[in-house]
Amino acid sequence: MSSAEDALVKRARAIHEKVITLDTHIDFSPANLAGERNYTQRLETQFNLPKMIDGGLDALFFSIYVGQTREAENPDAFKAPGYDRAYRAAIEKFDAAHRFIREIAPDKIELALNAVDVRRINAQGKKVALIGVENGYSIGEDIARVKEFYDRGARYLSLPHNGHSQLSDSHTGERDGWKWNGLSPLGKQVIAEMNRLGIMVDVAHASKESMMQTAALSKAPIIASHSAIRALCDVSRNMDDEQLLALKKTGGVIHVFAYSSFVKTTRPDSSERTAALVTLRKEYNLPGPIGPGQRARFQAALTQLPADRRAEYEEKLAEIDKQHPGDPAVNLKDFLDHIDYAVNLIGIDHVGISSDFDGGGGVVGWNDASETFNVTLELVRRGYTEPQIEKLWGGNLLRVMDEVQRIAAELQKSRTG
Ligand SMILES: [Zn+2]
Repeated sequence: MSSAEDALVKRARAIHEKVITLDTHIDFSPANLAGERNYTQRLETQFNLPKMIDGGLDALFFSIYVGQTREAENPDAFKAPGYDRAYRAAIEKFDAAHRFIREIAPDKIELALNAVDVRRINAQGKKVALIGVENGYSIGEDIARVKEFYDRGARYLSLPHNGHSQLSDSHTGERDGWKWNGLSPLGKQVIAEMNRLGIMVDVAHASKESMMQTAALSKAPIIASHSAIRALCDVSRNMDDEQLLALKKTGGVIHVFAYSSFVKTTRPDSSERTAALVTLRKEYNLPGPIGPGQRARFQAALTQLPADRRAEYEEKLAEIDKQHPGDPAVNLKDFLDHIDYAVNLIGIDHVGISSDFDGGGGVVGWNDASETFNVTLELVRRGYTEPQIEKLWGGNLLRVMDEVQRIAAELQKSRTG
């Protein structure tokens, strides 16, 4: 390593250790979180405590994710039984998260409900857990459940996921058509209730129209907990410039996510390359095809191979790469290009970072929590200063959280006073 590179790495390390690194979106299955096998162990998952410690990741939002059931699959998707199934799935996740934090790893991680908690827990040398809800489908048509979820620790909530909910259109409407042309009447009430309680409105997965209506309607700053930049990767899941500017106007923040398929649209493999890879993986008994989120499982299987078999495999893989090259994998530079773009357009105060680990990922260089330092290193390489990196890694989010809770207190006072 050159001395200039050495100095750069040293500087990045110092910054990484000093700032609070907060990842706004990590998925989990309740079985991995609070079962016999759990995140205190070095599982094959992209996220777990040992990997979090290795990578110097300080804080995370556990995502209470419930998938969207469509009426075509289940006619009662938007009737009491469908809502009940979704609610119970959400409660199972809330319970698993609390059990992990309170019973399984109370000496290592603690739940934060506000920015003061985050700073206090971090200063004590523990990891910080926060809770966000992905898909308001799970509240059904009972607005009282917004308060219930708040009481269970939720500090952000997204109204839809993939597929329209009872509250909002999803970005998937660009393919499937619209249900509400933005927010539903109930969705608008839910936003008012979130403002009143102090829950951040998360516009990830929402349609553009829903997102723009939310920005206009919300009395508090809004967030995108895991989204990327449409100008760089043109998929409906990402946010275009008009949306980013509207989000900035609320005082909010977009946490740009490292989900490979939303960072760069790669050219699909040729049929020859696909066939050659399938044959190779079969020969070595490796799982495949590898999609985002499965890389860790593949990597684990690969490390199980005896050294000579693995060398053989690598040799054959290099031969396939030579004969039938694929599009280069999405890497940290591609990811950082999204952050640069957002910072240039809406300013350093409105941008953050998230991984979507165990629901996505797939970016070479930051593909599990243990590689988190690489992100800071690349930021330093691109000339970001310590105060800027502090904002990107969570400072902005904590400011928004404070502001959302301050506005909630005001709203509650004006209603009772
Ligand atoms: Zn998501």
